[in-house]
Amino acid sequence: MIYLKTAEEIELLRLSNLLVSKTLATLAPLVQPGVTTAKLDRVAEEFIRSHGATPAFKGYNGFPCAVCTSVNDQIVHGIPSEKVVLKEGDIVSIDIGTFLNGFVGDSAYTFCVGEVAPEVRRLLEVTKASLFVGIGQAVEGKRVGDIGYAVQNHCEAAGYSIVRELVGHGVGRVMHESPEVPNYGRRGSGALLKTGMTICIEPMVCMGARDLIFEQDGWTTRTRDGKYAAHFEHAVAINRGKADILSDFSLIEAALGENIIE
Ligand code: MG
Ligand code: MG
Repeated sequence: MIYLKTAEEIELLRLSNLLVSKTLATLAPLVQPGVTTAKLDRVAEEFIRSHGATPAFKGYNGFPCAVCTSVNDQIVHGIPSEKVVLKEGDIVSIDIGTFLNGFVGDSAYTFCVGEVAPEVRRLLEVTKASLFVGIGQAVEGKRVGDIGYAVQNHCEAAGYSIVRELVGHGVGRVMHESPEVPNYGRRGSGALLKTGMTICIEPMVCMGARDLIFEQDGWTTRTRDGKYAAHFEHAVAINRGKADILSDFSLIEAALGENIIE
């Protein structure tokens, strides 16, 4: 069942998603060599709670932390840890969820730790660009498969592969609503997009093969071949027929200064 949101509900979702973006912007300057992912998690949780919200991931199916931090060949759902110290040349996807006024925010950005290799930066650029290519299809009258097709096509044309086991999703009062929003697909297939639908589009893109491993911690996914993966996520409403991005990377990128992903 797909829940269509009213204009008022879309605005509440926007507030929750903007809080996620502000939290990511708060973390952005801290993503430096020597920081632990546990520290990023603590700062994020404090920031979220100080804004009258709660971290949506904490306790979700038993997830222990407020944010997911996935480093290098980890794809998504990495668990922050005191043992994970970021170092120069790493990449880290930070995925954050919030509950604010009964609505979920859910957005992710992959950060460079200091200077990263040019081929890794290209992976991030292509993944981020593919998200916006997908968002371009998130308009009334298109179908979910049009989004997946566009994302897949963009990334595969660049020589990368798309994770299949994990997908985007509807978002609203709960974090994962219908429909599923795969990052691959066939044009003209899947649910019809209508005004009032709110979805998270979140390409997970691998430099090498798309085969993944679920780690023993029950959460972390990583590429089987050990090559790097990137992940960017926006929450998007179909609002008066058009794509309306509810989260906001410009807040993050203003905080990042030079190390933004173009
Ligand atoms: Mg997310
Ligand atoms: Mg999501």
